[in-house]
Amino acid sequence: MNDLQTLRIPSTAAANDTDEWVDALADGSMGMHRLPSHLSADEQVTLRRQAMEKRRGVSLDHLGKYSLDAERATKQNCENMIGVAQVPIGVIGPLRLQGEFVEDEELHIPLATTEGALIASANRGCRAITAAGGAVVRAENIGITRAPVFRTSGIVQTRAFVRWIDEHEDEIRTELEKDSRFLRLFDIRPKAIGTTVYLRFRFDTGDAMGMNMATIACDRVIEKLIEPATGVECISLSGNYCCDKKPAAVNFLEGRGKSIHAEVVLDKQVLEKVLKTNARALAEVQYRKNLLGSAAAGSMGFNAHYANILAAMFIAAGQDPAQVVEGSMGITCIEPHGPEGVIASIDMPDCPVAAIGGGTALGTQRQVLDMLGIEVDPNRPGAAAMRLAEIVGGAVLAGELSLLAALTSRDLARAHERLGRSKQR
Ligand code: ADP
Repeated sequence: MNDLQTLRIPSTAAANDTDEWVDALADGSMGMHRLPSHLSADEQVTLRRQAMEKRRGVSLDHLGKYSLDAERATKQNCENMIGVAQVPIGVIGPLRLQGEFVEDEELHIPLATTEGALIASANRGCRAITAAGGAVVRAENIGITRAPVFRTSGIVQTRAFVRWIDEHEDEIRTELEKDSRFLRLFDIRPKAIGTTVYLRFRFDTGDAMGMNMATIACDRVIEKLIEPATGVECISLSGNYCCDKKPAAVNFLEGRGKSIHAEVVLDKQVLEKVLKTNARALAEVQYRKNLLGSAAAGSMGFNAHYANILAAMFIAAGQDPAQVVEGSMGITCIEPHGPEGVIASIDMPDCPVAAIGGGTALGTQRQVLDMLGIEVDPNRPGAAAMRLAEIVGGAVLAGELSLLAALTSRDLARAHERLGRSKQR
């Protein structure tokens, strides 16, 4: 634990060495990753930050206040580290959820955000869901995908290649799975266009998001088996048919990572008392905004703001924030139900999540996962990630309900004025 990073002089280095290193880093004559390895990670972080302060003539003291394990962070997460980004974390809840990995529980969910009004809004959604008796949540393990791209000599070789892959799936599976206790191949789906073939490998990766595991395994099977046996060259390990960190119809249609569903029935009283709306108005905003509006815009996000809740949860819980791009796709449904009530649901086909790996072991991120009861159980591989997916679904549903309700009452601008906008004009 160290909150005085900006004041630290590296202890194992003489003062003149320190000045020389800072100068060399600042003027670029020494690469940021070239500091002597006998310096601790914290010392290296301090020197790089001091060099940047010197070069830019700015203070970076806030970046230097951290408690995370810099050795781990610099080895696994962040090269050339100079400090940390501090994003405030607020909490929403209690949110009552009934899933297969969340057993009828009331949860508090930490969100990292700088968007005023987001947490207040999502919290109102939680109040509505909990007052209604809870939301039902489910997650499907679709699996992470990696699609290397190959070049053939023409369609004759393309067809032969695709056939070879099909006929040798067992051998390919054995090679892919042999170095990991957790990586399991679901299937391989080829996509051929002229002299180009994509092999979309889909993996169960246990509790990990799995992109590293999948990429390493694909690299090995291509080099050891596929290229030597077929003579077809792999041009790139990722061919964008994966499709990682880009919005893509293939992910929308086939799913990727976890496919998540959450649903709640809201009666007239909850709609009126908690969400300050009614069934007709809510269903109309859903139809004209989320469905028609998205269709008219050619958007794949038939929802109000999945990305808002996802980004805040992903940053707080050490997930890969770039995958919010994929997670932002999905369809929210609101239909009349019972006397003046609604049944509301969210459907997220593509949401990669991790309970291990990535940023999940870092200090604040691990504590956030602890708060959510996300703990990898060696006897139930994959269960912790599925639990996280179910919680994501519940939180996203809360965010949808509250924002859509705010839109029905034209309350959105007023809430932003009250909670989110800087008073400075
Ligand atoms: P990713 O593949 O998600 O990018 P990593 O590269 O950090 O993440 O890989 C996850 C690591 O965690 C692998 O080395 C894997 O063997 C290990 N691991 C340990 N327990 C589990 C588990 N329950 N599920 C998945 N991976 C696990």
